[in-house]
Amino acid sequence: MGTVIAMAHCPFHDDRTPSLAIYEDSYHCFGCKKTGKLEPWMTELISGVDVRDKATPTLHTTDYSYELTDSVKKFFTDRQIPDWHVGNYLIKCKGNVVVLPCYDADMQVTGYQKRNVARQTKNKYITVPINNVYPDYSWCPVMTQESLTSANRLVVIVESIVDGLFVNLAGFDAIALLGTSPRGSLIPLLAHYGLSCIIFFDPDAIVVASYLNDKFNAHGINSVVFDSDCKPYEADIMKVNTTLQGLRKELKDGE
Ligand SMILES: [Zn+2]
Repeated sequence: MGTVIAMAHCPFHDDRTPSLAIYEDSYHCFGCKKTGKLEPWMTELISGVDVRDKATPTLHTTDYSYELTDSVKKFFTDRQIPDWHVGNYLIKCKGNVVVLPCYDADMQVTGYQKRNVARQTKNKYITVPINNVYPDYSWCPVMTQESLTSANRLVVIVESIVDGLFVNLAGFDAIALLGTSPRGSLIPLLAHYGLSCIIFFDPDAIVVASYLNDKFNAHGINSVVFDSDCKPYEADIMKVNTTLQGLRKELKDGE
């Protein structure tokens, strides 16, 4: 298995001390003996290497339209995201290519994520910079265009913007990591605003979610992991709302 690159609290048993060893391509729990594989993108947050697919130069957003094409409309419908929400987030498209803006806490656009919805590839999103600077995350508020100004609020940390839009429909603000790694300005941002976090990743990224939770806690950020059996956007919105409310209460009681 090679060298241990990090230890984390094990998400598979009630783990009081970090018993889960993370290797470059796998994990092993010394407590419950659970073992599994990790995709390279999952160990990105531990190695600190940005493995996102990156595009340059900056994209000409004027070539894209707010009017959704049939394939893009289907992409969002399949993910339970209604057209009005796609419109409010100011998502554009052209043919099969969808362009999702990445917003900072002040709702300034800091870059884009681009995806061809007709292509089934492993690394699905391409990150596009603005002035050669890549976005660290995207703020996805429930209230359209609302800046992240009030302290002590709760945010759901998700992998992608689409997951963030789904979480909004369940009534919660989200921050999309654009991958599974918190980059540059994110942890200082969470700490600065005293935000509480619920980490809601795909089930296959549960080990990474647990590691991230440890990392947040080490920085004094109050956080908890949503242990889900399906991808965020595949879940039942009402059930997600109920679970998130329960976790919010758990975080409040733990303060
Ligand atoms: Zn374990």
